[in-house]
Parts: sequence; structure tokens; C-alpha cells
Amino acid sequence: MIAKPQNLTGIGMTSPRARGRMISRLRQHGIADEAVLAAMGAVPRHIFVDEALAHRAYEESALPIGFHQTLSRPGTVARMLEILRAGRASLGRTLEIGSGSGYQTAVLGRLSSELYAAERIAPLLARARSVLSNFPELRHVRLRHADGAAGWADSAPFDSIIVAAAAPFVPPSLRAQLSHEGVLVLPVGEEEQYLYRIRKTARGFSEEKLDPVRFVPLLAGIEK
Ligand code: SAH
Repeated sequence: MIAKPQNLTGIGMTSPRARGRMISRLRQHGIADEAVLAAMGAVPRHIFVDEALAHRAYEESALPIGFHQTLSRPGTVARMLEILRAGRASLGRTLEIGSGSGYQTAVLGRLSSELYAAERIAPLLARARSVLSNFPELRHVRLRHADGAAGWADSAPFDSIIVAAAAPFVPPSLRAQLSHEGVLVLPVGEEEQYLYRIRKTARGFSEEKLDPVRFVPLLAGIEK
């Protein structure tokens, strides 16, 4: 069943405080990138999940968003964005694969000059589009119903690419769509998965294997 979009003010006074507690917890857990913390502090995570789960939105847990997909826990979102920023002033032109609920899209939008986001499941994309339309500051976000594993060639190259589903290996097309000094972050692996950061440098691609993670698989094709 598709989650019902919620009213922006539906949860009342508790959510700004709950969000503040989430940010303090992220800081305690070692997230030090102030731009990531500010962006996550500004996005009301509870409106991206079903109303019945909204009270759990600021907990350190992954939440189901329907269609066997999950919204990653705040710590994972924060860590991936911190890795993606790699100390840069802005993410620049960004590509997101697997926008799901649209939560990470909203956070990324605050850190990017342009944002292209692909999602393969049509009803998830429709819901994310409707929720994201509530934010005037996210008008530069382009959502597309597509298999993102091949990237978004007609808008490439990208300064930042982030993938929210695990691939068995780094898709060559994503690597190819990085701009000079561009950064790609994605979970790689099947049984065992790790976050990888790939950078395009003058000397070729650098590759770092970082944290162990658990993501849903990157799937081929689109679903109506
Ligand atoms: N970041 C999302 C959660 C993503 S869950 C959020 O904030 O809610 C992973 C998402 O990747 C799912 O929505 C899934 O449908 C999508 N996905 C998996 N393979 C994909 C592909 N090849 N192209 C586009 N989206 C894909």
C-alpha cells in the first residue's frame, strides 16, 4: 500500500524538538560536517513516511516506505552525505539514484546547486514528487522515473553522484558521468556490503572502501 502524504504541520510541536535531538545524536556519533547537520536539521523527516510511522521518524532506525524499500536511518544518511561532500564547499551538480521517499533528495537539494534524482518505482516517485512540492527551496530538483544504474547521460557530467541501493560492482556508466574532481558514493556488495567513494582525479579514479552497510539491491528496469 502506498503511504499517504501528510500535512506539513500534522505532527505539531514535537517534531522540531525531536529533530534537534536527532542532530545532537548524530553529532555524538561523530558526524562533524556542519552543512550536513544543518540540512538534516531543516528537513522534516516525518512527512516522508506513512503517518502511522511518523512518531518514529527521528529515531535511529530505518523505516519501511512500501514496495519492499526502506528509508535509511538518519546516521546512514548523514554519513553518506558527509563522505560525498568530502570537504567541498558544495555538492555542485548532483545525481541521486533511488530517491525512494524523497527524504534524502530533500536533504541533498539543500547541499546542491542542481539535483537530478531517479527512482524506478512509479508510485514512490509520485509520492516523493508530491511531498517535495511543499518546499519552494527545492525547485531546482528534477525527478525522473527511470532505471538510474546507467546514470542520467543527457545531464552529465555531475560533481556528485550518490546511490541509495547496493550494486554488485561500481556501475561503469556512473563513474563515466563524473566531472573532473567529481565524487561518487555508493554501497557495493551482495551478502557483505561496504560504502565506496570513487573520485575522478587528473591521474584517473581513486577508490576507497569505507563503512560496512546494509542496503536494498539496485534493480534493473522500471516498475509502473
Ligand atoms: N534514499 C531513499 C531510500 C532509498 S531505498 C529515501 O530517502 O527514502 C532505495 C531506493 O532505490 C528504492 O526506492 C528503490 O526503488 C530505488 N532503486 C533501486 N534500484 C534502482 C535503479 N536501478 N534506479 C533507480 N532507483 C532504484
